[in-house]
Amino acid sequence: EYADISLKDIEQLASSSFPLCMRHLFDKLREDHHLKHGGRMQLGLFLKGVGLKLEDALAFWRAEFSPKVNTERFDKEYAYSIRHNYGKEGKRTDYTPYSCQKIISSTTGSGDHGCPYRHFSEENLRAALGKMGVGGHTLEDVIDKARNHHYQLACTLTFEAIHATSCESGINHPNQYFSESRKILQ
Ligand code: SF4
Repeated sequence: EYADISLKDIEQLASSSFPLCMRHLFDKLREDHHLKHGGRMQLGLFLKGVGLKLEDALAFWRAEFSPKVNTERFDKEYAYSIRHNYGKEGKRTDYTPYSCQKIISSTTGSGDHGCPYRHFSEENLRAALGKMGVGGHTLEDVIDKARNHHYQLACTLTFEAIHATSCESGINHPNQYFSESRKILQ
């Protein structure tokens, strides 16, 4: 249902239209050239949902994992699970991107995945929101919602602050956040 996106646009789209959960994984990947399994699933399926084609997804992950993981090791250890997410391996199930509910209720352990409004410390959440340009009263409102376990409301407030418009439907899926954002910014 989304238009295809190309590899060269990802960086710009990440900063303008990814929700915090995906922006965090994207930044982490850029920084570490690696993501653990849970993060690869969460971000990988989201990118598939925004319209990244399988071939571009393979090129994207291969480039991000380099130079830590060389092409040979990448193809051996990681390419399968990416093709798997696109329904090209195993039972050929076409996996769907995770909803907020699923991400919020996931247990993160030592992983980087999850919903920042739920899984970050208040200090880290403040810093992350600051980087997104959320400050002042809005920042306090978002922190307050997160503290009271209204994670999706916190995300909706962030969306509204960044896009300077209201979001009547509220945020219930990272891919919905993305498509609402594109509607406004395009
Ligand atoms: Fe991501 Fe949903 Fe959490 Fe927003 S509320 S950060 S879209 S999981």
